[in-house]
Amino acid sequence: MRHIAVIGSGPAGYYSAEALQKLYGDEVRIDVIDRMPVPYGLIRFGVAPDHQSIKAVQKRYEKVALSDNVRFCGNVLVGRDVSIPELLSLYDAVILATGAPADAPLEIPGGDLPGVIGSAGFVGWYNGHPEFAGLAPPLHVETAVVVGNGNVALDVARILSKTPAEFVGSDIVAHAFETLGNASIRTIHILGRRGPHQIAMTPKELGELGHLEAAAPQVDLEDFPPEMDDALLEPGQRKSVTHLREFASLPRDKPKTVIFDFFARPVRVEGDGRVERIVVEKTRLDERGAAVGTGETYEIPCGLIVTCIGYKTPPIEGVPYEKDRGRFANHEGVVGGGLYAVGWARRGPSGTIGTNRPDGYEVAEKIQADLASVTGRKEGRAGLDKLLAARNVDLVTFRDWQKIEAAEAARAREGSPREKFVAIEDMLGARNG
Ligand code: NAP
Repeated sequence: MRHIAVIGSGPAGYYSAEALQKLYGDEVRIDVIDRMPVPYGLIRFGVAPDHQSIKAVQKRYEKVALSDNVRFCGNVLVGRDVSIPELLSLYDAVILATGAPADAPLEIPGGDLPGVIGSAGFVGWYNGHPEFAGLAPPLHVETAVVVGNGNVALDVARILSKTPAEFVGSDIVAHAFETLGNASIRTIHILGRRGPHQIAMTPKELGELGHLEAAAPQVDLEDFPPEMDDALLEPGQRKSVTHLREFASLPRDKPKTVIFDFFARPVRVEGDGRVERIVVEKTRLDERGAAVGTGETYEIPCGLIVTCIGYKTPPIEGVPYEKDRGRFANHEGVVGGGLYAVGWARRGPSGTIGTNRPDGYEVAEKIQADLASVTGRKEGRAGLDKLLAARNVDLVTFRDWQKIEAAEAARAREGSPREKFVAIEDMLGARNG
């Protein structure tokens, strides 16, 4: 029998568990450990609440979670409740699937003024992450600036633009639904430090911006290379750029505007005790395609800045870490000494949810090969239970989660699949009925 611990119950964690199940059949016991009392990580706390079809993948993870050889161990924080060396002594292999929940910092003067919020916080706020439920972003302002040209920037701009009616069917949490419904934002700038051909936005997600009830996207065709150059792009990117070009001819008859500022690099945030404006430098591309400043600057008066410029995996004591790339040091998923990394903790924050599947399968195969000549004598879950009980850790099982899930469904707004609990105590309370 093999005992394997997976730290993190998001897509990378459950794809790894699924792969191990397939490889080992009944000869494996997998504990999926999460610091939250609720599973699915990015699916619950990262994927936008109005993208329920993407969240549907959690059904697949649920199937894995409900099988006999996989167990969910929620409300257990590795590093506080149990250490990595302890897990390595109890399990044949330990997989780090902790994602990348920390913001890459916007390191410019004024970048820490109140009113500058990282996407981890802002997305966590509207998705009901317990750490960010109390964020209170300033939405009583006229203009917001979103920094970055990736899909997270799109999510944030779209959520800021939607009317309450457009959230029907979503699971946006009540505090965000209400605050956004009363917001006074009329203009949203999306700042890209490079040009339309360099965006990291995917076509489906970008296309949505052209169909909002109360907001219209706006681009300046002067920022675009000649249209014939689009033929050089790979098909997905070409489609995205086509959407952008189409935005130029959309009617501008909606109360809100989402303005794409290309070749626009933030250089400074200014304000008296809080954000009042962002100073942006115009850029051009150098021969390697990197943005270089032209020296020409302009200001955007604004009261909110959300930075969507990527994420980092927080380090865990004793695990080798690549600081510059914000991920665990690993070679193709192998960290060493029985430790493995998958998903964003392995690669950094890139790719879609599905990208984590091959990652999980590849690492599962490596584990099987590495353990082939090792006798299985580890204690596994019995040992973990003993240790957690001695430390009075209140472990949340998958059955407990199902009770929390049912309670969230029962308190949902009409048309919404769930009203999430946003405080850990409330999650734990719901488990107890
Ligand atoms: P991303 O795709 O890597 O985009 C980050 C953006 O930030 C890039 O445009 C980058 O510009 C810019 N940036 C980085 N540092 C900057 C700085 N110092 N100043 C100004 N701009 C800066 O990251 P993401 O949007 O966080 O998304 C993470 C991953 O999740 C991606 O793979 C994304 O596709 C995925 N995702 C998917 C969905 C979906 O499918 N619906 C939704 C959300 C996220 P440069 O290109 O110039 O570096």
